[in-house]
Amino acid sequence: MSTQKTHSEIIKSFALELGFAACGISKVRFLEEDSKKLRDWLGKDMNGEMSYMANYLDKRTNPEELVPGAKSVISVLLNYFPGEEQKNKDAPVVSKYAYGEDYHFVVKRKLKMLLEFIQEEIDEVKGRAFVDSAPILDRAWARNAGLGWVGKNSMLISKDYGSFVFIGELIIDLELQADLPVKDYCGNCTICIDACPTGAIIQPYVVDGSKCISYFTIEKKGGIPDQFKGKFMNRVFGCDICQDICPWNSKVQPHKTEEFYPESRFLEMGSKDWNNLSREEFQKMFKDSALKRTGYDRLKRNLEFLES
Ligand code: SF4
Ligand code: SF4
Repeated sequence: MSTQKTHSEIIKSFALELGFAACGISKVRFLEEDSKKLRDWLGKDMNGEMSYMANYLDKRTNPEELVPGAKSVISVLLNYFPGEEQKNKDAPVVSKYAYGEDYHFVVKRKLKMLLEFIQEEIDEVKGRAFVDSAPILDRAWARNAGLGWVGKNSMLISKDYGSFVFIGELIIDLELQADLPVKDYCGNCTICIDACPTGAIIQPYVVDGSKCISYFTIEKKGGIPDQFKGKFMNRVFGCDICQDICPWNSKVQPHKTEEFYPESRFLEMGSKDWNNLSREEFQKMFKDSALKRTGYDRLKRNLEFLES
């Protein structure tokens, strides 16, 4: 067995021990086609007010810009599909990814442990961990590493774990054996396109971010345009609709990551509880959650938009 293959297997095996659902490897290269698609998408203003998406384009598509001498991208998936969902049918719906502790911290902690393991067990490599926080195209790298395909709803879909997965990467200056990409299993399906309430999936594989409920409820500052009134299907933070209805998510197993377990009080909240939530209660209840990133004022704005 080649050294690269042995190292790759040791790394993957430890990634699974850390609780990641899957781990795959790709060789560092310039993502030419993804770079072109991203530039086209930005050129059509589909990033809305998310101007940060246009920053550091070279770094986004070329890992060597982020880690000098980079050789491999190790991509990991962490399942976040919850075993229990919000219980109150009238409660404003929160995206499943925000149920527990902010995933940025959880995934990064685990990635740092993986990097330390590689440095102790394999070689004094240089590397950096990324979780949706640096300019990097996570889905493209995870796809290249054979962890899934990018579906028509633009989410990475794993055959085994569906799309309720967080993606993280380690970029390191160690040569490893790369995995092969898997095929696209969307086939003739258009369920997500038909189900999107705001028509944000404007064509297969292209989501107009500026029309997406996730963008409106999490990223957008100021008001939400009136033309979208009545179309949010009670979503107050994020939107999982195009994932909830995807057949590849129908049989996924719940995660076992303790940090993502929600408080029972959160699961039990009804519409009244949400509308009466004070700033202090919000800060206490969501102090470690991704919901905190949107803040109390925007949450209130979203609640009012749903009621209007
Ligand atoms: S997250 Fe919601 S609004 Fe955005 S593309 Fe999917 S279904 Fe449409
Ligand atoms: S709903 Fe169908 S088209 Fe959309 S991502 Fe899932 S499999 Fe692909």
